[in-house]
Amino acid sequence: MNDEEKLQKRKEYNKEWRKENKEYFKKYREENKERLREYHKKYLEEHKEEHKEKRKVYDKEYREKETTKAKQKKYREDHKEHIKEWRKENREKLKEWYKKYLQENGNKWYEKHKEVISAEGKKDIITCECGRTLRRDNLIRHLKTNIHDKLISNKQI
Ligand SMILES: [Zn+2]
Repeated sequence: MNDEEKLQKRKEYNKEWRKENKEYFKKYREENKERLREYHKKYLEEHKEEHKEKRKVYDKEYREKETTKAKQKKYREDHKEHIKEWRKENREKLKEWYKKYLQENGNKWYEKHKEVISAEGKKDIITCECGRTLRRDNLIRHLKTNIHDKLISNKQI
């Protein structure tokens, strides 16, 4: 057997091997396909309830997760709107309340301090041009007095 013959023989062998294996793998795939299909079918059948339960739990968890997410999203949106609305309402209320507060408490404050304010005015001591110190509310009366005239006259001299 020369090299040429050896090569030829190997080629034939390889060709045969490929042909055999092609058939074998094709056959194997087909057999395996059926077997896998059967196995999968059998597996699903055997684990049907288990799978159903797992699926149920998973679906429930997913739904709850989605519900929670939706609730949270809704809450944020509602809350956002609520805050926005509350601020809007409160802004008007606050404006009104503050206005009312100033009116009521401003008057209350004046009423409460009216006498004190008046008393403070009475206590307001000034110095007349004649040099005499007197209460401001007594100034007009003082200007008509002889004391004032006398003091002014003395000052002019
Ligand atoms: Zn005077």
